Order: sequence, then structure tokens, then C-alpha cells
Amino acid sequence: MIVHLKNNVTTDEAAKLAVQLKAVHIKKPGQEVLVTPSKLQELDDSIMDKVDSFFPMTSDIQLASKDYRKDTREVTVGKVTIGGNTNNTLVIAGPCSVETEQQITESATFLSGMGIHALRAGCYKPRTSPYSFQGLGREGLELLAKMREKFGVSIVTEVRDATHIEDVIEFTDVIQIGAKSMYDHGILRRCGKANKPVLLKRGFGTTLQEFVQASEFILSGGNENVILCERGIRTFETKTRFTFDLCGVSFLKEHTNLPIILDPSHAMGYAYGVPDLARASVAMGVDGVLIEAHPTPRKAWSDANQQLTHPEFKELYGTLQKVAAAVGMKIV
Ligand code: PEP
Ligand code: MN
Repeated sequence: MIVHLKNNVTTDEAAKLAVQLKAVHIKKPGQEVLVTPSKLQELDDSIMDKVDSFFPMTSDIQLASKDYRKDTREVTVGKVTIGGNTNNTLVIAGPCSVETEQQITESATFLSGMGIHALRAGCYKPRTSPYSFQGLGREGLELLAKMREKFGVSIVTEVRDATHIEDVIEFTDVIQIGAKSMYDHGILRRCGKANKPVLLKRGFGTTLQEFVQASEFILSGGNENVILCERGIRTFETKTRFTFDLCGVSFLKEHTNLPIILDPSHAMGYAYGVPDLARASVAMGVDGVLIEAHPTPRKAWSDANQQLTHPEFKELYGTLQKVAAAVGMKIV
């Protein structure tokens, strides 16, 4: 249950009530909020005079629930805002990894020239094998900061573990939490205290309930700027890299108040399927898509099979604008 306390309740009083109710306490100036386990459906009479309003919930999808807030939350990424009544579909594009200054400069030149606001590229790659390229680390973050400076793009880059989380938070505009890091409570809780938006990817073996509960760790830390990202789940199918769970996306749209970004590149795993899936994603009226594109995909140091060439991306981008318009959205 989410409890909004009256605005004359002090932070200290709220903290005492939180102990009494075994609740998580979110300190907001002028509006202290307590979140109790969803099992608790009723409040003791003794605290009712301190309560402004309360929202009983049927599961621990709470702060992210449509039963708490009817409208999708607004999240601002650099110059653009998604969610709320914006009807904006944000295109986040870029290579899987930062590889060299020349490569990321070519990407940033091309994408910013196309009007793309958000450049993605990983510097700490969560690879399946320790023998694969692990990312450039801090050097990569510095190159991304250079791209932001030079081209005015916002940066989306991922945090893999606790060793570099402070560096990622310092350099990036949007903190991406990858599918393999989604259960890391250290990362989730630290992102709850960060003052930057978080793009939370769904783990590939994660139920929708668990996925949204992971977002609750960030929201209950006080960071309201969380975006959910569907990037494919593992099923019995092996012909594609993962299975793109668009049914799950409908569930998230219906039941959560968080903006949703779809990632057809990691779901499909092969570039040939990405344009169709990207169009299908935009047709769902979601808040954004994340697409991997590389100056020379064949030579990419990670995820070579799924990255679009720049001409392929350009062709796709033109069609996305039409699909977005057909569902009352605008590509930004
Ligand atoms: C990525 O975005 O490059 C990535 C590694 O994604 P995921 O965590 O979804 O596998
Ligand atoms: Mn990738």
C-alpha cells in the first residue's frame, strides 16, 4: 500500500511511522510517502489522522502501478521528454560498444546528422565469455562525453557492476541497466539515489512481475525517472536470439505508469529482422525504440550480427516516422 502523509507531517515523524508500519520511506519535501508491503491492506486508526491519501495494492507492483498513477510518467532525456501527454517516441541509436574514437565519431556524426537525440554505446559489456571484448571502460565513457560535447547528443550507456557505477553515473545522461544486471540490488538501489533517468532492461529469464518489481527498487529509492525496456526473453526457440515479448509490452502499457522502450536489436539478434520489428514496436505506441547501428557491422567488436549499417538505419528511420504518425505518435 502507498501512503501519502499530510504535508504537516515532518520527515522525523514519517520515519517513525515507517518503522511502525515496516514501510519504505520516500522523503519528498512537502510530501512524505510510505510504501508498505502489499499484503497490508488496512491502516491502523491511530495513524489515519496523519494520512492524506492511500492506495491499497494487490501486488508489490506499487509505485509503478497504473492503480497509483493513471498517466505514464514523464521522463526527460536531454532535450526531449517522453511519457505524459507528449506522444513522443524516442529513438535511441548507436553501436553496441564504443570501440575506437574513429568508430564512435563516425556513429555520432551520422546519427546526429539524422536528427537522433540519444546516442547509445556500451563501455562495460556484460559478455557471456570472459574471452570476448569487455568494453573500453572509462576511456569509452570519456569518448562518449566528447561526442556529447561535439554533437549535442544525449548519452545512454550501461552499468555492468558496482565497480564502475559511479563513473557511469557521472558521465552518462541515461543509466542503462542491462538484462544480466537487472537483479543486482546494489545497482538498483544506487540508481534509486541517482539524479539521472534509468533505462531498465528486462532480464531474459524474468517474469513481468519480477521485472516491474526490479523497477520498484529504483522508484522506492526516490528516483522517479525509470524507463522499462523489453529486449527479448529466452524461450524454446533457437532460430532467433531471443523472443520479443510484445504481449508483455501490452501488459506493461496497461498496468504500469512507466514509459516503455523496445529493443528489437537484442531480441532478434540478426539485422535482417530488426527493421520490421522496429516498425512493429513503434506501431505499439510505445515511448521509444533502441536500435543498434554501426559504421561497419561486420567488423563490430560485439553484437556484429544484429547491428544495422548506416544506410539500413536511414531507410528504417524514414519509415518509422510514418508508422509513428499512423498511431498518433511523433519520432523524436
Ligand atoms: C546492449 O544494450 O548492448 C546489451 C548488452 O543489452 P542487453 O543487456 O539487453 O543484453
Ligand atoms: Mn549490444
